[in-house]
Amino acid sequence: MSAHSTRNKYQSWGRYPRAEHEVRFLRWRHEGLSEAESPMLPFGTGRSYGDSCLNDGGVLLDARGLDRLISFDAERGVLACEAGVLLAEILELLVPAGWFLPVSPGTKFVTVGGAIANDVHGKNHHRAGSFGCHVRRLELLRSDGSRRRCSRSENADWFSATIGGLGLTGVIMWAELQLLRVAGPGMDVETIRFANLAGFFQLTGESDAAFAYTVAWVDCASRGRALGRGIFTRSNHSSEDRPGVSAPGGGFAVPIELPVALVGDTVVRTFNAWYYRRPRTRRRRVHYDSFLYPLDRVRNWNRIYGRRGFFQYQCVVGPAGGRDAVAELLSRIATAGGGSFLAVLKVFGSIPSPGLLSFPRPGVTLALDFPNRGAGTTRLLERLDDVVRASGGAVYPAKDARMSAESFRQYFPEWRAFCAYVDPCFSSSFWRRVAS
Ligand SMILES: Cc1cc2nc3c(=O)[nH]c(=O)nc-3n(C[C@H](O)[C@H](O)[C@H](O)COP(=O)(O)OP(=O)(O)OC[C@H]3O[C@@H](n4cnc5c(N)ncnc54)[C@H](O)[C@@H]3O)c2cc1C
Repeated sequence: MSAHSTRNKYQSWGRYPRAEHEVRFLRWRHEGLSEAESPMLPFGTGRSYGDSCLNDGGVLLDARGLDRLISFDAERGVLACEAGVLLAEILELLVPAGWFLPVSPGTKFVTVGGAIANDVHGKNHHRAGSFGCHVRRLELLRSDGSRRRCSRSENADWFSATIGGLGLTGVIMWAELQLLRVAGPGMDVETIRFANLAGFFQLTGESDAAFAYTVAWVDCASRGRALGRGIFTRSNHSSEDRPGVSAPGGGFAVPIELPVALVGDTVVRTFNAWYYRRPRTRRRRVHYDSFLYPLDRVRNWNRIYGRRGFFQYQCVVGPAGGRDAVAELLSRIATAGGGSFLAVLKVFGSIPSPGLLSFPRPGVTLALDFPNRGAGTTRLLERLDDVVRASGGAVYPAKDARMSAESFRQYFPEWRAFCAYVDPCFSSSFWRRVAS
């Protein structure tokens, strides 16, 4: 661990809440931690939206410096790497060799440690389960200096606590991942407009067996018979090794933090109506960046929500009653306004997540952004919580800055068992809110 400390404004992607930290930089696998620095929390790239990657008033252990690849078995696609390696770095190196990430979230700028600690999911959840399903082994460093190798067969209870363990069980120093064989960077994508929620569920039912990736953009401002209308995309990795695609060039950045959110209700309604009707090509072959990471092309896009930041609300409802619960959520959002154009709907599959506190579970997941407009926004989110709780679902801690302790304990009934694995010198802003 590097000796110097820095007062710095490390933030989460939602830019809310703000927090102050001491920051320590982890650089070497053999280094230890200092118990005197309690409370501490590992930090990847802060692509979590809320406060689960923040530790206000405490120490952040910036793990990005653990950025080395350790070994790669090119026959079996088994990669061992340090926990600060970015998913983007793995793709850049290994797609040309015919290997891909088995599961990837909607940004490639997250670390392997962060992906494990939130047990992230992707558009292929129905086919591949969560990220943790593909972790073969990992090493955990505790504040007392002890190290544990963990896998499904060695320290299996620690393995399960650390996958989806929100960085609270210790620092993941390295991990071994099983990658997915692909022919190249191309993806064959189909795009289909649907008129309402029933159309979404019909397309999901038709597509999940034949397509590895399925997801929909949903118009959160639509109501009545058009409630839940949107655009469905489904895709497979192309089977051709020379698919004639290249990574999308250019991209742009939001250069400054805007004083107020650009995203008002009228803008959202107008944009969504245009986006829904926009002519589009039904079938195309694209580079994986275009399909899996479209938002990565706009650097600092989170600045469009202004100084007060924003909430991303992601929940899963069902499976029983999931359709009605999604309709109720969308209806409450459309009536209240306050949503944004980034709204995503997907049906999770039934592959069990390996983590004690993993979020993915069978049901329907809805994710969307809400600019932070103060009490009005939090009141609406509480009304959404009511629906999620009644459906037996859960809200995703990686995107959360406000769920109550009571809700957390209902969503994650294993939390008490999990407490036995929390490092006594580790904590986070999120954890203090929901578990103390
Ligand atoms: C545009 C965008 C799209 C996204 N799409 C998805 C999606 O589709 N699916 C999804 O599941 N998530 C999604 N996310 C959320 C994101 O994938 C997760 O929050 C991810 O965990 C962030 O990783 P990170 O490296 O930035 O870690 P951070 O956000 O910095 O930290 C996340 C957690 O990991 C812990 N941690 C970090 N490093 C270590 C380590 N070495 N050892 C132990 N714990 C560690 C931290 O303590 C914290 O609890 C998205 C985020 C963005 C910004």
